[in-house]
Amino acid sequence: MRGYQNEDAIHRAPVRIDVEELGKSYGSFAALNNVSLTVRPGELLALLGPSGSGKTTLLRAIAGLTATEEGTIRFDGEDATTLSLRARRVGFVFQQYALFRHMTVFDNVAFGLRVRPRGERPRAGEIARRVRRLLELVQLPGLETRFPSQLSGGQRQRVALARALAIEPNVLLLDEPFGALDAKVRKELRRWLREIHTETGLTTIFVTHDQEEALELADRVVIMRDGEIEQIGTPVEIYEEPATPYVCEFLGGVARFEVTATEGEARVLGSQLPLAEADETYSGPALAYVRGHEIEIVSRDIAEGVPALVRNVRPFGPAITVELSIEGHRDRIEISVPRELFEGGEIRIGQGVFVRATSARVFPSPKADARP
Ligand code: ATP
Repeated sequence: MRGYQNEDAIHRAPVRIDVEELGKSYGSFAALNNVSLTVRPGELLALLGPSGSGKTTLLRAIAGLTATEEGTIRFDGEDATTLSLRARRVGFVFQQYALFRHMTVFDNVAFGLRVRPRGERPRAGEIARRVRRLLELVQLPGLETRFPSQLSGGQRQRVALARALAIEPNVLLLDEPFGALDAKVRKELRRWLREIHTETGLTTIFVTHDQEEALELADRVVIMRDGEIEQIGTPVEIYEEPATPYVCEFLGGVARFEVTATEGEARVLGSQLPLAEADETYSGPALAYVRGHEIEIVSRDIAEGVPALVRNVRPFGPAITVELSIEGHRDRIEISVPRELFEGGEIRIGQGVFVRATSARVFPSPKADARP
């Protein structure tokens, strides 16, 4: 990866992107509704959400590939809303490679430079030098003469990225770049994208529906829902302080309890726990979300524990995974317990135990007429 920054033209400062009150409809259906967002210069941002939440529409609008009816998109303060992809100088990587099948790897990467107007087009020798440098950056040197059909899926996506970078983009946008690849290759490419981002320093946005991918890779994550932004935050903020029940459920790995709050507190699995600061005076029906590691097994003589039944035990790894059914709760819940408890014979399948929540996120129940 050496030398990309020094020799190959990311001399400009990274670009800031401001999306202001963006709206996009297909007929009467609002794919984006009043979306505002600032992408900081040099940031690696993930757009995360379920299928149909508007991630791709937002990315394509930022790229200049999809026209919007409402709102403004600014690159470094300048209105870019009506500019084309090329005028915005956006490098775009599609989910399905979208390489030119009849062109070699070299020609694919060189394409964006060769189609430039004569005055801006580098000389052939310069193009060759740049293509080779980019293939080194994406760790594919020596494959210049292959055709896309002679590459693996992961290699094709690397070529697609080299091609997007060849035009010396202002920003790099990737739409589910690893979506079509198997789990192992996805993980490898994830790490590698992070390295490329560090190397290029480009403001980069990628779309994913995989929360692990977003939380592991991005500086900040935007969670989308029905064409709107539900929450923006660092991975730690999103994980530790999910803003709404929707975010908790989308991230998964939680058990949900219907509880009753009184003046900003609710009893959740044997513990009295607070609602968020904004709801500190709330009384009424509430939803509590507890992660497996926030449930502990307590001894019978602690009165506040809730009865549960051990359904299954996976006795390997540094901690033991125990599957429980908890009284009054429909779904089974997996928790981790220290190895000593298991080795002491206290945890066996079919055994009754008592459990307690150590913490939880508790929200006022959404109103019946609000979105679920
Ligand atoms: P996915 O993860 O499935 O790609 P997404 O979050 O990227 O989903 P979008 O592709 O942005 O979602 O689509 C948002 C909504 O807009 C969806 O309900 C989709 O059906 C709709 N939509 C997208 N493109 C069009 C189109 N060209 N015509 C009509 N509706 C469209």
